[in-house]
Amino acid sequence: GSSSPVLLKCEDVTKSFGGLRALNGVTLDVQRGEILALVGPNGSGKSTLINMISGHYAMSSGTITLEGEQISGKSPHQIAQSGIARTYQIPRLFNNLTVLENVRICAEFGSVSSMGVAGADEVAKAALVYTGLAEKANVLPEALNLHDRKFVEFARALAAKPRLLLLDEVLCGLNPAEIDHAVEMIKRIKAGGTTIIFVEHLMRAVVALADRVAVLDQGKVLALGQPTETMRDPAVISVYLGG
Ligand code: ADP
Ligand code: MG
Repeated sequence: GSSSPVLLKCEDVTKSFGGLRALNGVTLDVQRGEILALVGPNGSGKSTLINMISGHYAMSSGTITLEGEQISGKSPHQIAQSGIARTYQIPRLFNNLTVLENVRICAEFGSVSSMGVAGADEVAKAALVYTGLAEKANVLPEALNLHDRKFVEFARALAAKPRLLLLDEVLCGLNPAEIDHAVEMIKRIKAGGTTIIFVEHLMRAVVALADRVAVLDQGKVLALGQPTETMRDPAVISVYLGG
């Protein structure tokens, strides 16, 4: 129910690609309102878990529930409508649509879809103001630098008014000033009440943002807890050193 602190529950989530077990029995809860960082070496299953939650990969076994309602087995579209939005490691924008049109599509198909076209336009414009992109509403994505394209991804995700936002390496490729800007954006999104799971390599961003961190290694949760303590765990240090 809505009084439960648990928003998302992953139970024994397993994903195989042929003979490869990308996820091997992942069980974790995401608390309402928190930022959970997902870290771990390359290939440890972080993006796969994001893709399982968003419905882009079918489950091999296990269950995922959002506020007690099973979402595993549903399509990406149904999961988006139940209140989960995501960004991609590489921004996926429609190059023939303007920034505003790119955002408006997400407002129309997100959990606010009942408010109609005029409402979607308003929601999209508000998302552009929120992300600082209002002046670029009518340009095409190709005219934008990487920072702005990533912020359009934020605006698209926010236009769907998600309960849970999934961010997969949004800081990747940004310069230090742009990283600071994106970190501030993520803090504001959390302050607005949205729960966030973010995949990140950059430890200073993890420490700045995360309430808790889950460390994946070879498809399993190796450690889960408060960021600085968890990252000091000898087992965690050893997987980062390739031990
Ligand atoms: P991470 O995001 O932690 O770097 P991934 O979740 O992308 O790791 O990958 C975990 C493992 O699953 C890797 O061995 C990767 O090659 C494999 N994998 C991921 N997606 C696919 C796919 N669509 N088809 C086959 N193998 C995949
Ligand atoms: Mg990845």
